[in-house]
Amino acid sequence: MAGIEAALALREFAGSRAAVTVVDPGRRFAIPASAAGSAFGIAPPVDVAMSRVVGRAGGALRRSHLVCVDPQRRLVMLAGGELLRFDHLVVAVGPRQVPQIPEALTFRGHADVPELRAMVDGMVKHAERGGDTDLVVAIPKDCGWPLAGYEIALMTREHVLASGLGEACHVTVVTAEDVPLGAFGPTAGETVVGKLRKTGIDIVTGTSVKRFRWGRLEMGDGSSRGADRVVALPVARGPALCGLPRDAAGFVLCESDGTVPEAPGVRVIGDAGAFAVKRGGVACQQADSAAASIARDLGSDAEEVPFMPAMPEWVWDGADGWLSRDGERVLPGDQDPSRWWPVPKTTGRFLAPFLHEIARAPTPAAPAEADMLRS
Ligand SMILES: Cc1cc2nc3c(=O)[nH]c(=O)nc-3n(C[C@H](O)[C@H](O)[C@H](O)COP(=O)(O)OP(=O)(O)OC[C@H]3O[C@@H](n4cnc5c(N)ncnc54)[C@H](O)[C@@H]3O)c2cc1C
Repeated sequence: MAGIEAALALREFAGSRAAVTVVDPGRRFAIPASAAGSAFGIAPPVDVAMSRVVGRAGGALRRSHLVCVDPQRRLVMLAGGELLRFDHLVVAVGPRQVPQIPEALTFRGHADVPELRAMVDGMVKHAERGGDTDLVVAIPKDCGWPLAGYEIALMTREHVLASGLGEACHVTVVTAEDVPLGAFGPTAGETVVGKLRKTGIDIVTGTSVKRFRWGRLEMGDGSSRGADRVVALPVARGPALCGLPRDAAGFVLCESDGTVPEAPGVRVIGDAGAFAVKRGGVACQQADSAAASIARDLGSDAEEVPFMPAMPEWVWDGADGWLSRDGERVLPGDQDPSRWWPVPKTTGRFLAPFLHEIARAPTPAAPAEADMLRS
């Protein structure tokens, strides 16, 4: 997300002053935010050819991995040993998502949607034959995006309830967080706990699942419990790129504006950086800031964009719309495509209107209750 937002922003801010090359091994551009919902047919799976997205940004696509950076010589090495020279390097390679429970279904995004869907279908079929299923959704410490665990728990539960099989399918969230969604602020935590209770989902906080074997979960606090199926979120680790400073978890160390110490011309944005907050909207804001700064270096009069390290909090305020912590309100019927569905999911200034355009979807009606949690 951050890399593409940066490329789109550079086109806007720097125009022909910048020749942009995007290095990415992927053929498709798929936004993780829509992954859990797409397993339940709720969210449109944002999934576009990478070449189309990069083409829109006026960049050249190099389908490869960035392996190593030599900041002093302003060179990057790609997989296979090819060297690329740069004047400015924006590192936006995201996190490594490391599974913690080998026997569980680890949900990292779109690649795991078919398996998640098959698991839920299997639960429903089992229930139709009279069997019970005890599903645990495990949210480990240091997972980048805990909300995905709550989304999966809620959507699974709502799916089985809608199938009339709620009694046979039990869902429990086991989270290492002391307070659910603590990183999102108190409103989010209270909202999610209320919603879990209302839908009949149990929650265990402050402990993590260590192991899942022979139908038993071993927890970090020494306790154990039975479970039939486990969906786990991965732990986010940094990319550990050679040539750049990194913290103990491998995230790229940087200054508060994303510039990397002793690496002239290098900036890190998004989940690859050693930032406290990992979120698509924050990553896009950092991308705009980096792009504006580069554009100014290239002689453009682009306005500076603040480098956002913090998380804005949004709540769904009934039919009146979305309300941000600082009081900004967005109505459900808002036609501004930069506020494209669902509002706080995809807030990239340039990415969001582009996705809106390619999805060819009108701004949807007010989100259902579960949509609040998908944000
Ligand atoms: C399941 C899930 C749901 C989420 N839901 C939301 C949500 O609803 N709202 C929200 O704000 N955030 C959400 N997030 C978090 C959000 O997706 C991330 O914060 C955001 O994607 C970070 O953007 P990024 O550009 O740093 O990394 P990514 O989006 O992960 O992009 C990294 C890119 O780098 C490429 N890459 C990796 N290694 C290399 C390499 N060595 N060389 C070159 N390219 C490389 C990858 O192919 C990828 O295209 C979710 C995350 C997950 C996992």
